[in-house]
Amino acid sequence: MHEMSIAEMLLNIVLNEAHSHSISMIEKILVQIGEMAAVNSEALKFCFSVISKDTIAENAILDIEIVPIVARCQKCGLIFQVENFSFKCPDCDIITNDWISGREITVVSIEGIKD
Ligand SMILES: [Zn+2]
Repeated sequence: MHEMSIAEMLLNIVLNEAHSHSISMIEKILVQIGEMAAVNSEALKFCFSVISKDTIAENAILDIEIVPIVARCQKCGLIFQVENFSFKCPDCDIITNDWISGREITVVSIEGIKD
């Protein structure tokens, strides 16, 4: 399952970060996920709650922000937001594959209680 492997990756990152900042209990995690990563937020929250059990992240609130896909036209350089997965430049009508954002999965911040 796609969301389960992402949840495992996130858990590894936040546990490492918490460790290096002496956080003993994680309360909140903010994650940005590109629209193109096609992650189901509810499924990801569920998977995370399952695998974080018995870790310092087990009570953490997972806050997920979906980042829109942004692309740059390879002909005119226009930067535009991709809607409905249409990668056509609105000005010159050609399809671009120069993506600026939309595929990333990033842990933005972690809040917790320090030792
Ligand atoms: Zn263009």
